[in-house]
Amino acid sequence: MRVLLKMNNLQEYLAGLLDDPCNEVVEQAVAYGMIPLGYTCSLIPEPVLSAGRLFPLRLRAPGVSGTETADIYLSSVICSYTRSLLELALDSKYDFLKGWVFAASCDHLRRLYDNLGYLNKPEFSFILDVPHKNNEAAMEWLELELEKLRTALSSHFNIDMSDEVISTSIKENNIMLAELRSIGDMRKEAMPLFTGTEFHRLMMALQAAPRKLLSDIPGRFRDAALKRGGAGKFRARFMIVGGELDDPAYTGVIESMGGRVVADRYCTGSFPGLEPISESGKPLAAIALYILEKNRCPRMMEEFDRRADYIINIAREYSADGIIIQTIKFCDTWGVESSLLVAALRDAGIPVLRLEREYRTGGEGQLRTRVQAFIESMKK
Ligand code: SF4
Repeated sequence: MRVLLKMNNLQEYLAGLLDDPCNEVVEQAVAYGMIPLGYTCSLIPEPVLSAGRLFPLRLRAPGVSGTETADIYLSSVICSYTRSLLELALDSKYDFLKGWVFAASCDHLRRLYDNLGYLNKPEFSFILDVPHKNNEAAMEWLELELEKLRTALSSHFNIDMSDEVISTSIKENNIMLAELRSIGDMRKEAMPLFTGTEFHRLMMALQAAPRKLLSDIPGRFRDAALKRGGAGKFRARFMIVGGELDDPAYTGVIESMGGRVVADRYCTGSFPGLEPISESGKPLAAIALYILEKNRCPRMMEEFDRRADYIINIAREYSADGIIIQTIKFCDTWGVESSLLVAALRDAGIPVLRLEREYRTGGEGQLRTRVQAFIESMKK
């Protein structure tokens, strides 16, 4: 019989998992002989990093107070997510990791990968070269890249990474994604039973520890939300769009002004993060297709309209009153995309607030003022 946890107890537990990259569940997993691999981007296929004893950890920099040391190597005019990761790496906060897996998703991450290589070389590191276009040649190229990743992991960690093992990993991952998707769909309700901050914390916790050891958490979340029967009133329904956003406190500031976040299309969010990988055919081919077709990263060329339509459809499906586009300062990938998106969304009749921020949640006062003004502007 699943022990029902009240939502606030559960949230406390999930918040505890986000305080430290090496949290109690990660320590437990390592004690069981599981192998933690850090990754930095949603282009990295979690099922490959979940094969056998491996488990993926989305790299975050909780509690980073500044990036003075990292700025010496990366300079202060690149994305503060990458600078924060390097700062914590140089402070040995990730020494528990057995490896880092990158995607060459942007120049900022490439530079982080290079600097890590000579400043604090991980035991194992790999950078996946993902094409910028989706076509037959790109598919072939990416399948070869995934094959290289498989070979590198299997030889370095001496584990079975056969098609059967990866197919099983895809199936297991899809089961968890389906459960999270059905919980996420509860946000379509007129009065969702949980806040966007609570859902964000759930999503992040399941990227901050091995899902295998947290498999009952989504069910507990649903039970707690149903039991509580409501999450309070709000003034406007929002969708958040953008790049890396791994701190639920940011969503919390938006909701503290009377917003309710009902959809999340960002790198660590449920869109498109919870879309399943096909279970038919060769697993690496299915993963390559998923990355090129479903990831919808703005680095992909000639696909802006498809990405904009995807966001507009979700906003309508979740009855969002407005969209908040948040981008990290100096992030060129989302910087360019958000300028185009503002126009496309407004043309579609959707109010938009565009916010630029640092990786570390700060400037709450200014954020509150912007969100309040946005809500007021929609009420007129
Ligand atoms: S936020 Fe932007 S610049 Fe930073 S790592 Fe992600 S894509 Fe690259």
